[in-house]
Amino acid sequence: MDVRKLSIDGFEYSSLEFSHFGSKGPKVLITAGLHGGEATGVHTARLVVDFLKAEEAAGRPLNGRFEVLPVGNPTAFRRLQRSSPYDELDLNRIFPGDKEGTLSLRTAAAIWDEAQDADMVIDLHCCGTYGRSYTLALHQEHEPARKLAEKLSVAVVIESGGTRGQLFTEASHKGIPAVIIELTGGGPVGEVSVPASDEAFAALVGLFRAEGLVAGPRNEPHPVFHGKLEGIRCPTDGFLMPKVAPGERVAKGQAVATLNGEPLKARFDGTAMQVRPSSLVFAGQPAVVLAPLL
Ligand SMILES: [Zn+2]
Repeated sequence: MDVRKLSIDGFEYSSLEFSHFGSKGPKVLITAGLHGGEATGVHTARLVVDFLKAEEAAGRPLNGRFEVLPVGNPTAFRRLQRSSPYDELDLNRIFPGDKEGTLSLRTAAAIWDEAQDADMVIDLHCCGTYGRSYTLALHQEHEPARKLAEKLSVAVVIESGGTRGQLFTEASHKGIPAVIIELTGGGPVGEVSVPASDEAFAALVGLFRAEGLVAGPRNEPHPVFHGKLEGIRCPTDGFLMPKVAPGERVAKGQAVATLNGEPLKARFDGTAMQVRPSSLVFAGQPAVVLAPLL
């Protein structure tokens, strides 16, 4: 292992720490913490670093070049918030960045540099405490992204809305296979969902094995591909009671929650990806976010 500290603006607290493993074969770039509050992603990336360290220590061959950046946005991470307190820019909306810009723009430019020769880019994020993990990819538009998502054992794949300026969308538009894995957890208390982190870690190791980059048994994942996320919003203020759990399959017409006792129904067959808990809500707030089956 080789740890490289990259200074962004001359200050220790904002430098990026890349862990490198292996010297030959395809390059895998794994990033996390681009949004500083998304702790399950950071934790998962650290598990990958520990795994690769153990592979090396055991003398098992690495047939890939791995580069892992567990904390992509160190100043935001220290406050467990989405954006850096230094310029309030959303790091995952400003790729490819600007080497002469503010801290976040420089950080994006530095990470973008590392992605240029990558054969795959996997960026780890969080979809909130009430979300179910999924792979997010431009799978309908970009064949390389679909093929990468297919090899990950995260059960659900969702089509991205395609917002530009994200590391994975910019990489996809350059033809680099790139996805996000959105993980349960995160938020201002730094919550790590251990089941979500275990699932994503297993998916990443499974991918490395499937590609022959590390030794070990290969499995064949069968993730289910979905369309873009769609929220069911609360039509009025009131008391919301969920009727489904995150990750649950739902049928068209099924009541996924009640608001003041009235059903809120799914408009299509799909999977519940985010479910607001029983709560007092205001009109317009999303109650349940669904992904349609394709
Ligand atoms: Zn994020």
